[in-house]
Amino acid sequence: MFVYADNAATTQVSKTALDAMLPYLTEIYGNPSSLYSFAQKATEALQEARETVAACLNADPREIYFTSGGSEADNQAIVSAARLGARKGKKHLISTKFEHHAVLHTLARLEKEGFEVTLLDVHEDGVVRLEDLEAAIREDTALVTIMFANNEIGTVQPIAEIGALCRARKIPFHTDAVQAAGHMAIDVKAMNIDMLSISGHKFHAPKGVGALYARKGMVLTNIIEGGAQERGKRAGTENVAGIVAMAAALKESCVHMEENTAKIIPMRDKLFAELSKIPHSKINGSLEHHVPGTVNMCFEGIEGESLLLMLDDAGICASSGSACTSGSLDPSHVLLAIGLPHEVAHGSLRLSIGEYNTMDQIDHIIATVPGIVQYLRNMSPVWDELQKGERPHLI
Ligand SMILES: *Cc1c(COP(=O)(O)O)cnc(C)c1O
Repeated sequence: MFVYADNAATTQVSKTALDAMLPYLTEIYGNPSSLYSFAQKATEALQEARETVAACLNADPREIYFTSGGSEADNQAIVSAARLGARKGKKHLISTKFEHHAVLHTLARLEKEGFEVTLLDVHEDGVVRLEDLEAAIREDTALVTIMFANNEIGTVQPIAEIGALCRARKIPFHTDAVQAAGHMAIDVKAMNIDMLSISGHKFHAPKGVGALYARKGMVLTNIIEGGAQERGKRAGTENVAGIVAMAAALKESCVHMEENTAKIIPMRDKLFAELSKIPHSKINGSLEHHVPGTVNMCFEGIEGESLLLMLDDAGICASSGSACTSGSLDPSHVLLAIGLPHEVAHGSLRLSIGEYNTMDQIDHIIATVPGIVQYLRNMSPVWDELQKGERPHLI
């Protein structure tokens, strides 16, 4: 059985999104910037997509800027707020320790340019505390950027409360909502969000397309220079087909959000319930504040990568926070941020499921994981030491 359980990494393009985009890859290929009527159809499609995306977020269409994805939207939001702040002598930026690297690395670059960055601790439950944010805010704070939902452990932050606090202090607030869009209700007005990033491929649109919402009055800095597309704020001929697909996918996800959630939650809960029976395992992040589909657990005495390779042999696509793509052996910065010891963080597993998964697939995962964990523990010198009492169990 093949089981795709890595929806936080990317999702399958939906039939709705594919059908919506196909005409723009075939007959309707005009450049939206061209003046003849043939290109008007592409221009109109862009406008319609902008209205759809705006409606899903309760934004105004003029507040939506299409980008190449979540990373670019994060970069542009953060750099824009930093430049705007610097012009007023404000060079302090606040974020958290468990953001996506698109946020953390952008902040690190600004730090080298002379900005001061405060990264808030995240509590063991995977949720940032409002009082920590309040204590970190300074006279010269130019931006607060805190993710809506974490991509590794799925915990959701108190976005409306953070928004209200920032608005009261007149500090721009950006949220990376890539893991939330299409999966949770988002209302940029009610939540007092000034800027927000989304990415199509996390909700069944193709890769390489995303959007930045920037509230009217936010001054954006260009990341990509060139033509006057996106009201002069993001140059480059628009990815019309991708944008149309993203709008269709977002609308579909938002319309079916309740029923998708109702389908995903029992599958997720069964995974948690059954995999928790493995001795010396731990669920990462509070289940109280959680996106529907993300399951993150640690199993003591094993390496996450070995687990992934063996799951792959069993047809299961999953992910682990540890030993990332860079080839380094560092465990996930997210798991360390919520206070897990290195040894424990190394044995992590992320299963991210969606509405395309079935209970049969969940049962396959449940039937497979415990045996692999046991097999790996039997080979593990660390597990041997734990068994002999030569080192203490940490979970
Ligand atoms: C996937 C992801 C991104 C990056 O989006 P891309 O479209 O792949 O650039 C940013 N933030 C979070 C939380 C993500 O999960």
